[in-house]
Amino acid sequence: MANAIANFFKSITGQQQTDIDSVIKNTENVTLVCKGCSAETSKHQLLKNNMICPKCGKYFRMGGKERIKSICDKKSCKEMFDNFESVDFLNFPGYAEKLEKAKALTNEKDAVVCGTAEINGCEFAFFVMDSRFMMASMGSVLGEKITSIFEYATENNLPVIGFTASGGARMQEGIISLMQLAKVSGAVKRHSNSGNLYITVLTDPTTGGCTASFAMQGDIILAEPKALIGFAGRRVVEQTTKSRLPDNFQSAEFLLEHGFVDAIVQREKLRETLSNLLYIHSKTGRGGKA
Ligand SMILES: [Zn+2]
Repeated sequence: MANAIANFFKSITGQQQTDIDSVIKNTENVTLVCKGCSAETSKHQLLKNNMICPKCGKYFRMGGKERIKSICDKKSCKEMFDNFESVDFLNFPGYAEKLEKAKALTNEKDAVVCGTAEINGCEFAFFVMDSRFMMASMGSVLGEKITSIFEYATENNLPVIGFTASGGARMQEGIISLMQLAKVSGAVKRHSNSGNLYITVLTDPTTGGCTASFAMQGDIILAEPKALIGFAGRRVVEQTTKSRLPDNFQSAEFLLEHGFVDAIVQREKLRETLSNLLYIHSKTGRGGKA
């Protein structure tokens, strides 16, 4: 077990920085089908439209790199900790295969992209969870990467913007997965104690332990329209409480009505909204470090 723990990550040293633009360009020729109206649209076209269906307006789920590129200043984005890689330390049946499949599908090593970027010259640190990678379940690498970006932001006095999406804990990593909630929460608290801002943007779907910890610890909590946000699934809550739940239960709109979310922001307005929030909370009042 000691060896397994020591080999948690294939590589954990050093900080690599990657040019995100070149990675996205390789996937632009793909055609995607809208789940709302079945229309086929090229990814290139969708990217120009913030990954919103031009026919029916449905939001496509976004990859981590696409998301950060859609809101930050051109060429300002630097990815960090992208050499962290999950390993199957419990020899959990099927986990190694699932990891390989998710890596091939997303071209990522795990379900979160972290780094620094700027919006209108305001620098910030970010993490973006990618639900296409094993439903962004929270394993040791995901927890370590988010913790690391909070620690970097604390040291460098940077605000953090976090885009959340998750199905919950990664059961293939057992108790180690659950420990990530406390570990990330500790880093969030230390970042907060140093007087820095943390904004979360809840995207579809934000559920399970992610909702129970860092997704809801933002100083300002934004959400995308109609995003599913909750802890336990609807059926479990209905059976436990023996009550019929409203149709819009666990939607961003329901959470806004009940005070869990500060604002619902359309994707087209997200960059502008985040820019204003960073600027208002910046320590210099002139952009630069917020
Ligand atoms: Zn559509």
